[in-house]
Amino acid sequence: MNTEEILSLSLEQLVQQIEYHNRKYWEEAEPEISDDDYDQLMRRLEELAPEHPLLTAVHAPTVAGSGKVIHKEPMLSLDKAYSLDEVMEWAGKFARNQEEIFLIQPKYDGISANWQGGVLATRGDGETGEDITDKVPLIELEHPAGIFPLSEYRSKARGEILIRSDDFRTLYSKIVNKNGKTYKNSRNAAAGIMGLKDITMMQLQHAKLTLVDYSLYSWESSFGTLRSNWDTLVAKIEELPYPMDGIVIKLKDQEYSRSLGSTAHHPRGQIAFKFSGVRRTTTLLNVEWSFGKTALTPVAEIEPVEISGTTIRHVSLHNLQNILDKDVHIGDTVTVERAGDVIPYIVSCEPGTERKSCLISHCPSCGSELVQDLPELRCVNPECPETLLMRLLAAVRNIGIERLGEPNLRRMSTVLGVKSLKDIFNLTVADIMKLDGFQELSANNLYREIQNAKTVPDWQLLASLNIKGIGPNIAKSLLKDHTLQELAAMNQEQLASLEGIGPERAVAIELELRERKDEIDELISCINLQQSKSDGSQPARPTVCFTGKMPEKRSYYEKLAAAHGYDAADSVTSTLSILVTAEDNATSSKAKKAASLGVKVMTLKNWLATLEGNKEEQTQNHSDEPDLFSGFGF
Ligand SMILES: [Zn+2]
Repeated sequence: MNTEEILSLSLEQLVQQIEYHNRKYWEEAEPEISDDDYDQLMRRLEELAPEHPLLTAVHAPTVAGSGKVIHKEPMLSLDKAYSLDEVMEWAGKFARNQEEIFLIQPKYDGISANWQGGVLATRGDGETGEDITDKVPLIELEHPAGIFPLSEYRSKARGEILIRSDDFRTLYSKIVNKNGKTYKNSRNAAAGIMGLKDITMMQLQHAKLTLVDYSLYSWESSFGTLRSNWDTLVAKIEELPYPMDGIVIKLKDQEYSRSLGSTAHHPRGQIAFKFSGVRRTTTLLNVEWSFGKTALTPVAEIEPVEISGTTIRHVSLHNLQNILDKDVHIGDTVTVERAGDVIPYIVSCEPGTERKSCLISHCPSCGSELVQDLPELRCVNPECPETLLMRLLAAVRNIGIERLGEPNLRRMSTVLGVKSLKDIFNLTVADIMKLDGFQELSANNLYREIQNAKTVPDWQLLASLNIKGIGPNIAKSLLKDHTLQELAAMNQEQLASLEGIGPERAVAIELELRERKDEIDELISCINLQQSKSDGSQPARPTVCFTGKMPEKRSYYEKLAAAHGYDAADSVTSTLSILVTAEDNATSSKAKKAASLGVKVMTLKNWLATLEGNKEEQTQNHSDEPDLFSGFGF
């Protein structure tokens, strides 16, 4: 399933999909999709319904056990990071200084279990697990103290039950399940065996599982050196002979970590970095050049390969330079890697017997001669329709008109002659209705979203420029004390001296704000930019926080709030002005906290009604509208 397909699912379809794959994975031990695809589904659910119960459900494989075991310390699942920047952002939140020590450990792709007092138990829902002591005869323990048959180890161990990659290759090539078939992968085998009521058949075939203690592989890095150590640590962990789906990063100071407590589902002092990083070799069939906002991007079509449960047909080739460096030709044998949520890409290339160049000389859109402006291949025709459209699409995304995707933008451009954000902001409902597929209600919805997008807090504009290392939190903290114009006027040294920036980010900010000045000025000219820095004359803006499952995306209400002079807040604190709840008598942790702090609580309906008084265009109560955008191909 690709990203576009996931985005086109309605909430109901999405929930059905997740429940289906949960069943496949946990109950039938026959997963149909990769972990990455599953994560994408969950992330989408988090966007659509941040408080959906599926997000907090802790799953465990159905193991055939002999009763429940209550864990002494609850075992919580971990929050996830998908890039080093996200890891650094998390670490930056909790490191008390540059010397704060973090532990870096493999994230095993197995079954969490606890061995204590001769009882082996799964994690279960975190507080009670299943007693699986009857599986002990199959399990070998790998522990800092040594390697033992688990039954002979007298102390405590906590880790993950899995099948070592080398055992899977050798031992499991002959071991068959109850249907007489060999297992597809080690994860299926481990889950399948743990689900057996009787292990005699496995004992006869000398099946072996391993319990790796969490403390066996653990590296340390200070906060100050984490970024520079990262690649080496990842490489070390990737070499370990276990099925893994990422890396766990945690604070070493356990007392401090515990003092940070947990969110409802995750301990704050730990995070998981996801990767899969599996490589396969295949043949390069063709290369297509697709348009980006500044250059043409090569996309390779390959002989399909399976990587961690997903069939891959297209992989990224990044840019022209990459093709020249690797000397990539059509017909070559290529090694493809898929890691984390990154688009699969070509790692290396061996010449094939019949080779054909994959370069093109003329623009597929306007026919102009292309320019090799390394590292990129560019169409420099200022009127090139495709290039202009891609630039506009990037601007639309940056400004946060989330529902306006490429297909409709394309229609706007051909049918309505839309060329710039200004043109989009000037569209009327009647204009939008001229586009294929729009009815009055859906046109009204898009119109309203466009109008709401006109009001943008400066930090959102900065965060949306996709400058390396500048996410919403850093952008907020930067713009609290300086305006965007002030930042743009600073040199690298001045930028580097700001809190939380440092030399690396300073270079990126300086470069991007300078190189993209025209683009940014154009954006600012047609929006209502809200400055975060107080000029002293205005009182602080009221803050609003949302809780509960609402009919629209959270970002929709946050934009609405911003358009009406509120700042959106992520959590409930004593300084919060209003908590808006999806239902009457909300019982979420946010609602309880608001009540205990005496923060004003309002239902969504009432809050929307208060906005009505301020602005004509907000008079509809959106909660009664169907989801008009599903099926539009966004
Ligand atoms: Zn062109």
